[in-house]
Amino acid sequence: SPILIWFRQDLRLSDLPALSAAVRSGRPIIPVFIRDSLVDGLGAAPKWRLGLGLAALAQHLERKGSKLVLRSGPALDALKALISETGAQEVYWSRAYDPDAIARDTGIKSALAELGLTAKSFAGHLLFEPWTVATKTGAPFRVFTPMWRAVAQRDVPSPDPAPERLAAPTHWPASEHLDDWGLGHAMRRGAGIVGQHVQAGETAAEARLDAFMERLDAYPAQRDALADDTTSHLSEYLALGEIGPRTVWHRVKGAALIGSTGADAFLRQLVWREFAYHLMYHTPHLLTRNWRQEWDGFPWNEDIETPEVRAWMTARTGIPVVDAGLREMYVTGRMHNRARMIVASYLTKHLMTHWKIGMDWFADGLVDWDAASNAMGWQWVAGSGPDAAPFFRIFNPQTQAEKFDPTGAYVRRWVAEGQSDPPETALAYFEAIPRSWNLSPNDAYPRPVVDLKVGRARALAAYEGRKDQ
Ligand code: FAD
Repeated sequence: SPILIWFRQDLRLSDLPALSAAVRSGRPIIPVFIRDSLVDGLGAAPKWRLGLGLAALAQHLERKGSKLVLRSGPALDALKALISETGAQEVYWSRAYDPDAIARDTGIKSALAELGLTAKSFAGHLLFEPWTVATKTGAPFRVFTPMWRAVAQRDVPSPDPAPERLAAPTHWPASEHLDDWGLGHAMRRGAGIVGQHVQAGETAAEARLDAFMERLDAYPAQRDALADDTTSHLSEYLALGEIGPRTVWHRVKGAALIGSTGADAFLRQLVWREFAYHLMYHTPHLLTRNWRQEWDGFPWNEDIETPEVRAWMTARTGIPVVDAGLREMYVTGRMHNRARMIVASYLTKHLMTHWKIGMDWFADGLVDWDAASNAMGWQWVAGSGPDAAPFFRIFNPQTQAEKFDPTGAYVRRWVAEGQSDPPETALAYFEAIPRSWNLSPNDAYPRPVVDLKVGRARALAAYEGRKDQ
């Protein structure tokens, strides 16, 4: 009988232990993707990006003599239907670590077991599963650097290559059509713009890694430079599992062996992703509440309709580097890590707005959206998270711009107003936003929605007030 491989956040064929195990069994393989409520709940950009990833995976499977079977509905119902249609006895998948997926998967495992069927879950999305890493006293890590030290020299299993071919079943079950799912609907105008910046799929991910390896040495010194393309851009591929973290780890470790000086700094960042998952697994309230309870009651604005929040969301705060970062996200679906920190600090401090509003905005706009990294990033900047930057260390966006965009190239790339001949990237923001906003690159650039000094003083006063409580 065939094995069902249930793809979720692992849209690849190499470095995929669940698939390797199925191939080793010698049995026919039926690759499946299910559009369930977790998929329906995705924000606009990640959902659209998922559609591109699924199309690429389907093509890749076809080159291997296989197919991607698409179904929608509650995952258990979809799996049971496929089991009865195909005679499969086993379902394999790569483990997910967010609370909703864990609840779903645990339920499915026991429901299938009651029917005498086997559901097997495998590692794949992470280098180090959250329960395999602990402090000396056996507790989960709450601080990054000790976790980094604990794992930096660990052996990571070598990734398996993609199978040459996947054994097909005698009969293929029916599949829904990806186009009918409308995964890109919520993107509206954005899809045309962002699409020019995205290349989906495993082959593109590997090409991305190859290209980055040429620049690894420059990474530690240059990764904060806003205008230079010095980071790997692997996040969206890792988020959808179009590349496996073990593949990245081994390539970079290999480069270190032959003398690359950038490897440590890069792997450290990759382990921040692991840290985010570690936190999400052990303390899932990371996703929904202040990780440090003492922040509950901090007088953050929670209304998304205020003029200040509107200005931030529409990338018209009047602070060029903040607007540049937010516009980069409109146009490319990505944002430089340094810009993420700048816009997040500005929202949670200068605009005294709750990090959850920013987190949700990113969840709608980022093609590399990742629940754990996004929540950790926001709570880190806001000060409410583990190992977070102290709240009173308020980034001055202008100083940040002078330091990390000294020539102003990043701001010019994304902010058209005031330029006599703005580049296409800056003009693209006006194409990506809804027409009903009636904005034009010839408009005057907005005045600051909040004076930086006033915003900073307001935030510090709130912080001092909290300490007195
Ligand atoms: P590189 O610098 O090349 O780093 C390599 C990889 O390491 C990344 O692809 C990523 O997987 C991991 N990584 C690097 N920095 C971090 C970090 N600070 N936290 C966790 N993992 C990291 N990253 C996401 O993948 N999805 C998100 O939704 C997300 N939201 C964020 C929100 C905020 C407020 C902040 C401050 C950071 C967020 N990050 C998020 C982390 C980081 O900004 C991105 O991973 C990075 O910019 C991706 O670009 P890159 O792949 O070129 O990174």
